[in-house]
Amino acid sequence: MRPYDADVSLDLDLRPAPQPLPDAERAAVLADPGFGRYFTDHMATARWTTDDGWHDAAVHPLEPFTLHPAAAVLHYGQEIFEGLKAYRHADGSVWLFRPDKNARRFARSARRLALPMLDEDDFVAAVEAVVRADVAWVPSAADGQETSLYLRPFMIATEAFLGVRPAHEATFGVVASPAGPYFSGGVQGVNLWVTDRYVRASRGGTGDAKTGGNYAASLAAQAEARDRGCDQVLYLDGEEHAWLEEAGTMNVFLVTADGELLTPALGSILEGVTRDSLLELAPDLGLTPVERRIGLAELRERLADGSVTEVFAAGTAAVITPVVGIRGEDRGQGAVYEQQVGDGTPGAASLALRAALLDLQYGRTPDA
Ligand code: PMP
Repeated sequence: MRPYDADVSLDLDLRPAPQPLPDAERAAVLADPGFGRYFTDHMATARWTTDDGWHDAAVHPLEPFTLHPAAAVLHYGQEIFEGLKAYRHADGSVWLFRPDKNARRFARSARRLALPMLDEDDFVAAVEAVVRADVAWVPSAADGQETSLYLRPFMIATEAFLGVRPAHEATFGVVASPAGPYFSGGVQGVNLWVTDRYVRASRGGTGDAKTGGNYAASLAAQAEARDRGCDQVLYLDGEEHAWLEEAGTMNVFLVTADGELLTPALGSILEGVTRDSLLELAPDLGLTPVERRIGLAELRERLADGSVTEVFAAGTAAVITPVVGIRGEDRGQGAVYEQQVGDGTPGAASLALRAALLDLQYGRTPDA
């Protein structure tokens, strides 16, 4: 066995960027950062080999990688990543939201993709070190509501070897990218295409890991949704095509007339940090959190009889995206069905949950 669980602590060397982007240019970027388009002055990296474990850990100026063309990640997709945000509170201080949960999920993903384990404290320390180096890149409330610095930790297999086995060399990295408000013109509802053609995960697969291949495989499904006039895909399970799984790159939730906040149980879905946080918040808003299998048939019946009043998708990028309609094709019959959710506008409970989570993230209510 390889020492996946070597007990190491990253010793992060700090090499500040000699020429950070001038203040005026950074301010221009922060005025309209969009998402994932601009990157900060610094990044963190650490290298790993089977022989030496983790080493060469540093926060340093952002720079391209040099990879051997036979690097395992380029051929077999041995890769994992995370996504979390740093938020500037009203008093100017900057906070990560529950980064320990991303660290734990990163470790689970690493195990599934046979990548080396990175100590969870080291993961958080590396993310924090990048935020500290680039704290000027965390937008302030004055730059607009719901702005943040998005952090993207990742790990890739770098060994040059064409055999299919866990690579003996890997690189961990963290890059950061300022993010503007997801909904610049107010929260918008989306329509979901219930795909019968594609699945994102099946039992024993990688659906519960955050690995690039899952996202590469989602692109054709997303294109199908667009072709069908929808914004996102609603995925069903891989075995029976009968059970709700996820909405695009978000977890899916239902609100019922009798006050339940329903979401698919874990298994082949990604355990979202937003999902966990909403389940925890639900009782404060008078909702009973329930994790269980949810059939598409149940959703369709309960949308029709009004006992499911709201549907939404949840994830770090948009917090909560209300779902205002679903569309799909009845198996074998080729007929397209279409159902509206509630009155076709974002629901009150969805918006209240969204506001409550944002209050925690922006420090307007203390995160215990
Ligand atoms: N499911 C998938 C497939 C995702 O990519 C994400 C985004 N990371 C989520 C759910 C939501 O996770 P989180 O709340 O941690 O962003």
